[in-house]
Amino acid sequence: MTYEEIIQFHGQECPGLAMGYRMAAAAMENLESFRAEDEELVALVENDACGVDALQCVTGCTFGKGNLLFRDYGKHVFTLYARSSRSGERAFAIFADLCSTAFCVVYHMAERLITVLRSTTFGER
Ligand SMILES: [Zn+2]
Repeated sequence: MTYEEIIQFHGQECPGLAMGYRMAAAAMENLESFRAEDEELVALVENDACGVDALQCVTGCTFGKGNLLFRDYGKHVFTLYARSSRSGERAFAIFADLCSTAFCVVYHMAERLITVLRSTTFGER
């Protein structure tokens, strides 16, 4: 799905959606995975905020398929697991500036730092 289609799915463009998109895309990139047609991927989300809509679109993990698990820990954290490779990625965001900038940092589940990436400036709204 394109980002425009994800905005349509969510109903609006917002910082939480953009951050969720970045986090999900980074986790998918590090897993070298493709959007789940069925249940190839499993996602665990620790909040029920806007970014989860982006995660569903990017990863193909949905409540309906049963491969989107929600644990209400109140953290802006996604964990994505690929059944085929038996590997996973944990993605979270660190806010350097609560108003304008988020830095998404993705760690391998084995605690190995894979990539520190993507600073995204919001606030052009
Ligand atoms: Zn939103």
